[in-house]
Amino acid sequence: MQTHQALCITVESQSGSLVIDWTDGLRSQAGFAALREACRCGRCRGAIARGESQRAAEGLALTRVEPVGDYGVCLHFDDGHDRGIYPWDYLRELLIPVPVARPGAAA
Ligand SMILES: [Zn+2]
Repeated sequence: MQTHQALCITVESQSGSLVIDWTDGLRSQAGFAALREACRCGRCRGAIARGESQRAAEGLALTRVEPVGDYGVCLHFDDGHDRGIYPWDYLRELLIPVPVARPGAAA
């Protein structure tokens, strides 16, 4: 069981970022490049073990967010990395919190 759960995941292709709204009300986001560089597919793990740095290509696109049970998501990037599993707790660490404008919350 993980500490965190995503409520809603939004891919913002325009700005090149992934936005997650969490069940506890926090919203956080990260750019595609940062997510790709945090990829932990077999290929990336091998590269990390060899001490190779992970550099995302310019203009990299996130093509698909595939749910992995209630465990997390698998992110598909257009550079062929489509097997990286991102557990919720890992995403929670990776993404940067952003302010949320709550409808009806204004006094
Ligand atoms: Zn990878």
